Amino acid sequence: EPIIIAKNVEKWYNNGFHVLKGVSLTVNQGEVVVIMGPSGSGKSTFIRTFNALEPFEKGTITVDGIQLTHNLKNIDTIRSEVGMVFQQFNLFPHLTVMDNVTLGPIYVRRWNPKKADLIATQLLERVGILHQAKKYPNQLSGGQQQRVAIARALAMQPKIMLFDEPTSALDPEMIKEVLDVMRNLADSGMTMVCVTHEVGFAREVADRIVFMADGLLIEDTTPDRFFNNP
Ligand code: ADP
Ligand code: ADP
Repeated sequence: EPIIIAKNVEKWYNNGFHVLKGVSLTVNQGEVVVIMGPSGSGKSTFIRTFNALEPFEKGTITVDGIQLTHNLKNIDTIRSEVGMVFQQFNLFPHLTVMDNVTLGPIYVRRWNPKKADLIATQLLERVGILHQAKKYPNQLSGGQQQRVAIARALAMQPKIMLFDEPTSALDPEMIKEVLDVMRNLADSGMTMVCVTHEVGFAREVADRIVFMADGLLIEDTTPDRFFNNP
């Protein structure tokens, strides 16, 4: 059952650059879609349209039945339904790990702090960071910070998770621990759209591989076909 339906999406940056030239993609509930392609092909811009971080000029995008338009009224709904993890972890440096994770649930979802703490504790446990809950982000390794960022996004109980090169800023030894958390999430049935160059992850975890080049989607296929056919 489709949860993201993007049709003929076109975007120009305000310097006139035509970054998306008519991109269509349907993502079904529970699917893991990996987007690959050269740097500058519009992958990041495209997935950022799914949670209304990027406006677009032409085409339509529907996320969980909500049509994304220029003056979106339910932007908070979309932002909490569509979690996002960035290359740079974007944690709040002045908040502890725990407070980074409970912030959204308390102030956006308006849960009581006790309930938020309980869920944050479960999520930090799940990503293997519970013992660091009282530390500040700069006291953690990059891989640990990224796992906190994943927990923070999950704390909003999103229906969809977007990952934008989540391991690109990490040292090699930390990449695996983040990919393992993503793998786990995929196994739990989360709908995921991931921009990544990690071939192993793409091959083993993705249901579909989408290849973009120069603002166009030029292939949408299975990992088997993508990696085995020349
Ligand atoms: P962003 O901050 O997302 O990079 P910009 O500041 O580049 O967006 O653009 C501001 C707005 O103007 C956006 O809605 C963008 O898509 C739109 N825009 C930029 N360039 C063009 C263009 N050449 N034609 C139509 N719309 C454009
Ligand atoms: P990818 O994720 O495939 O590397 P991006 O979506 O990040 O591609 O960027 C696509 C292209 O758009 C790049 O060439 C980038 O330099 C350009 N770009 C990104 N943001 C802006 C902006 N605000 N204004 C103009 N060009 C931009």
